[in-house]
Amino acid sequence: MTDNSLGIYIHIPFCERKCRYCDFLSFSADDREKEKYADALIRETDECECEGQSVDTVFFGGGTPTVLPTELTLKIMEKIREKFKVTPDAEITTECNPKTADKEKLTAYKKAGFNRISIGLQSAREDELKVLGRIHDFKDFTECFSAAREAGFENINIDLMMGLPGQDFKIFSETLDKVTKFDPEHISVYSLILEEGTPLEKNIENFDPLPNEDEERKIYHGTVKALEDKGFHRYEISNFAKKGYECRHNLKYWELKDYRGFGIGAASFLKGKRFSNTKDIGKYMSAEDVKKLREDIHTPDQRELMGEFMFLGLRKTDGIRVSDFRKLFRADIEDVFGEVINKQMREKTLKKTPDGFALTDRGIDVSNFVLADYV
Ligand code: SF4
Repeated sequence: MTDNSLGIYIHIPFCERKCRYCDFLSFSADDREKEKYADALIRETDECECEGQSVDTVFFGGGTPTVLPTELTLKIMEKIREKFKVTPDAEITTECNPKTADKEKLTAYKKAGFNRISIGLQSAREDELKVLGRIHDFKDFTECFSAAREAGFENINIDLMMGLPGQDFKIFSETLDKVTKFDPEHISVYSLILEEGTPLEKNIENFDPLPNEDEERKIYHGTVKALEDKGFHRYEISNFAKKGYECRHNLKYWELKDYRGFGIGAASFLKGKRFSNTKDIGKYMSAEDVKKLREDIHTPDQRELMGEFMFLGLRKTDGIRVSDFRKLFRADIEDVFGEVINKQMREKTLKKTPDGFALTDRGIDVSNFVLADYV
């Protein structure tokens, strides 16, 4: 992996049906609209200012990238290879909804160089999948996982969601038990967030009560232990991997590395500048100049970037390295954040590591507050 290689993110905003809790940029579309969108994506890639740059991670996210007809996905991937120097060892991931990827599709992806699949399962319990409004059941997942293995994928992530209505650790551990039997390389566990205006939020009183904060902490602690017992190590607050299978693309976000996002709403961080594309699909598809797609252009100042370095880097369980801070900012971390660091060490939410600082378990429990101290 080259240290200054770029990460590429491709946003595919289409889903067969909206899940009840979802407030992501996603909607349904017919094949004609998908084709037009893929053309616009290819045009944006074609006009990208980073032409010829080395790329060592590519991530197709959404939405549901696997609802795109396979030939369109392959066309986009081909364009990426044409415009950039995709390194031979690049990590190339696609997110995948279990209902929308069969062996034929996955085999075609593998042939095109995809080497990592991230399957959005969320729960192994049918009642929870119904509450979430997912389009798949657990059997769809088992078929999809086997198809991915048969297609040759040796790096598979499973996305899970905890903190669902009526859940306690005993209930969640059923999902963990079932999922770990498949022996994936990576598992992500995020908490359900009740986003305002979503059908789940509006009708939440019709469901079992959500676990309270204490219960949710118990589920999280139980999850960490259960996954560690099965050989997964927690390398980020919500991410667990077998050794060597940490997601290199996501690590770029946490380590302030450059990435370029293509597609509606996609965010980029390039040479110290942040920007996002328009979320308006009509505008995106008809834009004459891709530079006009950009909104929220912002060049963070040095102090802001230092805060981001801490805020994002401390999400990793290894934390941040003092030498990285010095190299990036030509400043001593203690001079900038000495006061916050000392306070957090006294509160036992932060600890010293051999080469820097990391959150303690207690710090992880209250990470929203601890990390907010840096911004
Ligand atoms: S599959 Fe993902 S992006 Fe699509 S509706 Fe469900 S949660 Fe949203």
